[in-house]
Formats: sequence, C-alpha cells, structure tokens
Amino acid sequence: MIELSNVDKHYGSLQVLSNVSMHFADGEVTAILGPSGAGKSTLIRCINCLEAISGGDIVVNGKSVRDKRAVLDIQKQTSMVFQHFNLYPHLTALQNITLAPIKVLRKNKADVEAQARGLLDMVGLASKGDRHPAELSGGEQQRVGICRALAMNPQHLLLDEVTSAIDPEMTAEVLRVIEELAGTGTTLILVTHEIEFARRIADKVAFMEGGKLVAHSDAETFFNHQSEERISRFVDKMK
Ligand code: ATP
Ligand code: MG
Repeated sequence: MIELSNVDKHYGSLQVLSNVSMHFADGEVTAILGPSGAGKSTLIRCINCLEAISGGDIVVNGKSVRDKRAVLDIQKQTSMVFQHFNLYPHLTALQNITLAPIKVLRKNKADVEAQARGLLDMVGLASKGDRHPAELSGGEQQRVGICRALAMNPQHLLLDEVTSAIDPEMTAEVLRVIEELAGTGTTLILVTHEIEFARRIADKVAFMEGGKLVAHSDAETFFNHQSEERISRFVDKMK
C-alpha cells in the first residue's frame, strides 16, 4: 500500500509537486495523466526514492521515504520501468534482468536465471536473452526493462511512459505485457499518454496539472462522467 500525504517537492524555487495526497491500494491499477511538466514523473520517482520529497510524507507498506534506513526496502517493493529503458549497455538482456536479484536480493544465480528465462519467455523474447541492448529493438528493450523490474517480484510496479520512446508498431507488444500484469495482484501505477489503454486497464485515474493532483477517481467516473471540462478536452485531444 502506498500513501501520499501533503507531498511537496521543489527544485530550488520551482515548486514541482504541491500538497499531493493520494492512496494506492494493493493490486489496484492507476493511470496518471496530465500535460507535460505536470510532475507525473517526479511523483513516481519520489515514491521510488529516486528523488527526495521536500515536504509531507510518502509511506510504502508502513515505511516512510523520509527514513533513510527504509529506502532499500521501499525500492525492493517498488520497481520502476523507465521511458528510455535505462538498460545497462554492457550487459546482455539476461544479465540486465538478473543483476539486481543477485546483487540486491542475494538470490541464487541459477534460480534467478531460471526465473529470468521464464520472464523473457512470457514477453516473447525467449531466444534473445544473450543479446545486448544495442542488438534489440526499442520495443524489445522495453520488454527486457519490464522483465528486469518483475525479476524483483515487486509488490508495486511504477511505469513511466514506457511506450513513448518506441515505434508505434512495437507498442502493442509492450502494452500486452502490462495488460497481463493487471489483475494479478501487483499494484500498477502507470504514467501514460495511451488513453485507450488507460481506459481499458485502469481501476483509477489521476490527473495532474502544474504539480497538483486535480482529479483522482475510479476510471468509469473519470472517463464517462467527467465534470471538469478542461480534463475532458485534454482526454479528447489524447485520443
Ligand atoms: P512529461 O509529460 O513531459 O514527462 P512530467 O509530468 O513527467 O512531464 P516532470 O518530469 O515530473 O513532469 O517535471 C515537472 C517539472 O519539474 C518540470 O517543470 C521539470 O522541468 C521540472 N524538473 C524535473 N526534474 C528536474 C530536475 N532534476 N531539476 C530541476 N527541475 C526539474
Ligand atoms: Mg514525465
């Protein structure tokens, strides 16, 4: 469970998150929408302790991101998938996936490799485990990125515009993998511009603008009974 209470974040004098309070229940799928610069990436980076918050609190399974000793635990429970994949270029796909479970979770190498091969198979890359990122397409790299996050068996998966840097014809495969994760018990928080995808898989939708959380409701209400006209206009433009 993830709870944000009155979260503020600033970079120098620039206020990037203002008084954001929200709750992500276990197993729930939340889509975070909003214009560029709204603070969406910053929000999920703060949940994953990649950025420090300036005020308020974020509590993940009872532990505060403010507690330095809790950071590793929180990061083990919240895996992140990045827009630009962020794979290690000098490691193969398989090595990218197994690195953290071996180094951070101190798991047995053979067990982790078996799990990684299963994950590669799940995303349709069974034959490509020995390739380096430069030998994979963007869509394939991103599927490896998702495997790398899943290899940590995270309770929460944070996905930041994971299809926006890949060719349109490659996005369907990546979205299919994410869709299969929805409803499996993993909490999914996805920042996305794929509005039809969000409509299909999200339980909840959050809308951010100018560092503020301006809407957060169940997806049916958000899409079909939207009372804010500017949100409706934004959603229509994204279709
Ligand atoms: P996009 O849809 O373009 O990815 P976003 O909603 O994810 O946008 P953020 O990346 O969270 O937005 O950025 C929010 C604001 O914070 C922007 O004004 C951005 O310029 C600023 N910002 C982000 N990271 C930093 C940083 N490391 N230093 C200074 N300002 C930053
Ligand atoms: Mg962003």
